[in-house]
Amino acid sequence: MRLNRHHASVIDPLLFLIAVGALLPVALGRPAQGAPPASLAPAPVAPGIPVIVYAGRPLAGPDSALAPFRDPADNILCAAPDTFTPLGISFTTNQKAETVSFTGPDGAVATVRFRRASGGRVAVPVIEVIEALGGKCQWQTNTLHVRAVLTSVTLLGGQLRVKATLPVTATVAGVRATGKEPAKIIVDVAGAEVGSLPRQLSLSGPNIKAARSGQFNEDTARVVLELKEPGGLAPPDPRPSTLLVFNPTSAPAGSQRPSITVKIPPAPVSRRPRNKPKPPRPSQAPAVVSALTLRHVSDKKARIVIRAARAPQVRSALSRGRLTLDLLNTTLGANAASALSGARHPLLRAIRVLVPSASAARLVVDLTRVVAYTVSPQAKSGELFIDLSLPSGAGGRLAGKLVVIDAGHGAHDAGARGIIGIWEKNVNLAIALALRDRLQSDGVNVLLTRSDDTFVPLGERSYLANRSGADFFISIHADSAGNRSVSGSTIYYHKQIGSCRALAYTIYERLNGLNGIPSKGIRSDRVLYTNGLAVLRNSQMVSVLVECGYMTNLGDVTKLRQTATQQRIADAIADGLRDYVEGNPDLDTKNVNPRPTLPEEMVPPAAPEPPAFDTGEDAAQNLSAGE
Ligand code: ZN
Repeated sequence: MRLNRHHASVIDPLLFLIAVGALLPVALGRPAQGAPPASLAPAPVAPGIPVIVYAGRPLAGPDSALAPFRDPADNILCAAPDTFTPLGISFTTNQKAETVSFTGPDGAVATVRFRRASGGRVAVPVIEVIEALGGKCQWQTNTLHVRAVLTSVTLLGGQLRVKATLPVTATVAGVRATGKEPAKIIVDVAGAEVGSLPRQLSLSGPNIKAARSGQFNEDTARVVLELKEPGGLAPPDPRPSTLLVFNPTSAPAGSQRPSITVKIPPAPVSRRPRNKPKPPRPSQAPAVVSALTLRHVSDKKARIVIRAARAPQVRSALSRGRLTLDLLNTTLGANAASALSGARHPLLRAIRVLVPSASAARLVVDLTRVVAYTVSPQAKSGELFIDLSLPSGAGGRLAGKLVVIDAGHGAHDAGARGIIGIWEKNVNLAIALALRDRLQSDGVNVLLTRSDDTFVPLGERSYLANRSGADFFISIHADSAGNRSVSGSTIYYHKQIGSCRALAYTIYERLNGLNGIPSKGIRSDRVLYTNGLAVLRNSQMVSVLVECGYMTNLGDVTKLRQTATQQRIADAIADGLRDYVEGNPDLDTKNVNPRPTLPEEMVPPAAPEPPAFDTGEDAAQNLSAGE
């Protein structure tokens, strides 16, 4: 209701008295005389404790003693005034006037009447504060999403500047020019709405062909620069700010990672042309490895130490129960590998060195079970450590573990549209429910982020998993692409987290070739975003996102619609999870999914690590739900 000024000046004091009289007994949190019986108290809008989320994470102040709550008097969401300090919002409390004054990061000021939570603690209405300081709020079930609004995008001397009403962070990805598509720079601002910025931005610069803005997903505003020639922008300061500054880099977009310097047979599971080996860099002579040793750190951890004048670059892959490590632009010194011949460890069956060419060496580690591995070059000593360990949550039995299954999308967020008229959200849910039933029959505890056609915001999905202390988080999706011939499943893991990669791998071994839907292999989510996928990034446990096939491929989608295929996919994921936890010695004997045998020298890496900036925009656009 909106009163005009004249009436308001007369009525306001009266309304105020009525409001305070009605509010105080309840808001003060003590039973007051004449308070309505519990059955007549206003019903909560939604059960449970409300959550405030900003950029995919719960928003809370340094003093978390007071959780957000709905004032029972009017259901307004209230929180402690310090809730907003992570947004650069400061406050002062005036006890006498019963107000709190907030100052936003750019000097905007808002004063609101405070309320009192039980125990007499001061609390303020959340939406009123955020909106007064230029932010936006949106309820989704019991979660309030707080977002910044972009106010300007400018280009100054090659420097891109993005302003927002609340502090934000952003990621930058470069996309190489392909055929008719120009090179692009994609800036994703987390926790922001594009607001009233024009879709076509009038940015002028010597290398700018066109610029546009858009809402990539509910929590991410996107700015795309189309370039005349390859160019790059450095990521902004990682600290949240209302002004993001992106400086130009000399390196062309997409070339921020070192080139690969050795010919590797093309990988069978990832035939994308952009994964082809790059030509060698002429400037560097091959590194010479003087010693290769295996250290027994514990029965659950082994370390391969590669000693060289400078740490070699490595391309690694899990495939068929073995870990293949290609040392690029590297030669082996005489007797360098002699110490490996007698090496023993419970995680390893055998370790061998192959020399496919004069400037490459390949380490083949046959595993007794899937491992988590990390590759860490030691800048000072030139040594390279490859640590193999029992993955997190592995060992023992799968029964009794807690798994959160996340069916992607839901309700109005329908995901990809299948070319035969079915929606991704329904395929995801059917597979998720089948996976739940299968896991439960195996004695596994299961939580679903949704069990019907409802919308669950991304932040809430991983928040549920974190809050429940789950051991595993498995997100189920189906892919889409502009090119209808693209087909197959892909399993994403977060960045280079060894345990997540190990789980993606065991699921891949079970999914590959299943019922005619091939698998494109496992991929780090960095191939999509430099910060990875939100549901994986925000989940604190071992987590993967399975794209079960392409909604845009006739063969895939026809199968994805069938109950039998949905069941087989669910079984494959459950079996892969079991392989991860309990081990599976058959992984290397190919009993899992028979495939033609290749001569050993030709065993290619299953999934070469894609360059971090080699973002396929196709994939990025189509995976909006994951992000
Ligand atoms: Zn999806």
